Amino acid sequence: MQGKMKAQMFYAPGDVRFEETDIPQIGDDEILVKVRAALTCGTDLKTYRRGHPTIIQHTPSTFGHEFASDVVEVGKNVTKFKVGDRVVGVNTAPCFECENCKNKQYSLCEHLQYLNGAFSQYVAVPAHILKYNFFKIPDGLPYEYAALLEPLACAVHGFDSIPAKVGDYVVVIGAGPIGLMFMDLLNLHGCRVIAADLSEHRLELSKNFGTIAQVNAGAPDYVEQVRNLTEGKGPQIVVEATGFPEAWEKAFEMARPGATVLCFGGTKKGSSL
Ligand SMILES: [Zn+2]
Ligand SMILES: [Zn+2]
Repeated sequence: MQGKMKAQMFYAPGDVRFEETDIPQIGDDEILVKVRAALTCGTDLKTYRRGHPTIIQHTPSTFGHEFASDVVEVGKNVTKFKVGDRVVGVNTAPCFECENCKNKQYSLCEHLQYLNGAFSQYVAVPAHILKYNFFKIPDGLPYEYAALLEPLACAVHGFDSIPAKVGDYVVVIGAGPIGLMFMDLLNLHGCRVIAADLSEHRLELSKNFGTIAQVNAGAPDYVEQVRNLTEGKGPQIVVEATGFPEAWEKAFEMARPGATVLCFGGTKKGSSL
């Protein structure tokens, strides 16, 4: 499709501009989608503040990575989708060939391919991502919900990596979107989930996601409160979903001996514990 579109373009940390730019052109194995709903992820905020070593590979770059869309053009070799399909994807695809991929650690792929442009009117979806990580949206699922696929997939991946058992005490530190997804998954799994956060509002919200108790992480006796809520032993599992080294440290402090601590939130480069 020829023409111009509106897009948020990333120039540098703190410098994102709403501009008119060319609609991207697709190859024979690609599709063009029109964005219908886009979300702002914590990673977008981090990228806005300090740039990103892998997501932003050149500047100016289109920006944003969580979106749901309609197919408006398909390359001549594409059979997976047709014009008019409602689609959602995740913004990366692993190479399946590097050492980490061969060990099935796909999120650590050394050649992860990225897709930006959620904050644009149109996005050209590259063949590799289209093949492995683009899906039809089920009928009846609104675009706004479908666009949550990528963060939810991250939370499910994290959940799969911890040995959570029915009845386990699990503390989730951080009740932002990712933390709430963890709480929901762990609650559905039958764990006794305790939320920890600095925000009373978020703690209140966590009650809708099945938490049995809420602890303010700013309280001086925060770790002690957690211990009291877990029969004096500390949780079997701690999920850290804030990306702050202090939260990582508290996670280890509150965990019982033999516990599993999932450090999920990415900390700032150069952080130390
Ligand atoms: Zn995201
Ligand atoms: Zn790889």
